Amino acid sequence: MIYLDNAATTYPKPQSVRRALGSAAMYSANPGRSGHSLAMKAGENIYSCRVKAAEMFGAKSPENVIFTPGCTYSCNMVIKGLLKSGDHVVVSDMEHNAVMRPLKAMTQRGVTYTAARVASDNDETISNFREALRSSTRLVICTHVSNVWGIRLPVERLAALCRQYGILFMTDAAQSAGVFEINASESGFDFVCIPAHKGLYGTMGTGLLIVSDPQLLSTIIEGGTGSGSISLSQPDFPPDKFESGTPNYPGICALSAGLDFVKTTGIGRIHSKEISLLSELYDRLSANRNVILYTKRPDIRSCGGVMSFNVGDLGSEQCAEYLSKRGIAVRAGLHCAPLAHEHFRTEKRGAVRIAPSYFTNFNEIVTLSRVIAGM
Ligand code: PMP
Repeated sequence: MIYLDNAATTYPKPQSVRRALGSAAMYSANPGRSGHSLAMKAGENIYSCRVKAAEMFGAKSPENVIFTPGCTYSCNMVIKGLLKSGDHVVVSDMEHNAVMRPLKAMTQRGVTYTAARVASDNDETISNFREALRSSTRLVICTHVSNVWGIRLPVERLAALCRQYGILFMTDAAQSAGVFEINASESGFDFVCIPAHKGLYGTMGTGLLIVSDPQLLSTIIEGGTGSGSISLSQPDFPPDKFESGTPNYPGICALSAGLDFVKTTGIGRIHSKEISLLSELYDRLSANRNVILYTKRPDIRSCGGVMSFNVGDLGSEQCAEYLSKRGIAVRAGLHCAPLAHEHFRTEKRGAVRIAPSYFTNFNEIVTLSRVIAGM
């Protein structure tokens, strides 16, 4: 199979990740719950992953790294743990439903929001966000890289704008973690939401939340943490405050190996490989008069490893089915991001999304463009 659905989850995983997952599933005890050696070893492995993640994403300390069941969960922790009635939020018009649905749910509790339009020019994007701010704006949320169009948004500049007005800033790094350098502390990101299973090459059902000040958030779930068990109140110190219940130990071990893989391979090298494959595809598709491209040629400065298109007047699902029958896996439809599709007026038929990974090769891209030429 030619797998080009890496924006949904990367496949294949590096061998080191598969090994770590297998060994964690076979030889493990519950971390932080008991004092015997197997449990202690699990606790050490979790801490080691926390340290690696803190280093990769510029968290203030390992305790500012929270393990979660995924990026969606991380987004919910911020939106529901922070916002109160009367708070206003500004989001980009490229957000995923991992942001939009919890935010929409919070409108029932008196939260309001405004979507700022992402422009092709970053200065204009910043000015659209600035105009959307109100005196009640508590939080600005902007995805780092669009999961549909691959466009990189000026999150560092938005964070600086927020700092100027004393507003908190959250970025959804689902499509950028492992592809762009992220330093939460240096860039002034208050919250960074990250899945383990995409550009970090970990497994599904694991994620991270990097938080600048854990006291900003209330918990959205409470439970056993293995610490302070005499008290019926949730611990108020991180990470225990936010990590109730037995953790996804195999997922965290896989993530730990994934972080090592990304670090040793090099974020820049992974990104350049994906962009060179996508720009090759873009050039080949541009020469095909039947293909509709919506965005500019992918480049390293302003794009992540994702692009979308349509073919003639075919529905995107039909196109994906055609490719699937020829052994090519892509994702069509709306990609859980209806606003991003409204932006380019593709909300009716969706688009065909191509997302390579570090393991995609040039020949696979050539085959894809040839199959599309035959449609
Ligand atoms: N945000 C974006 C931009 C995404 O692409 C995704 C995954 N499709 C998510 C959030 C949610 O990630 P997860 O499914 O791992 O919770």
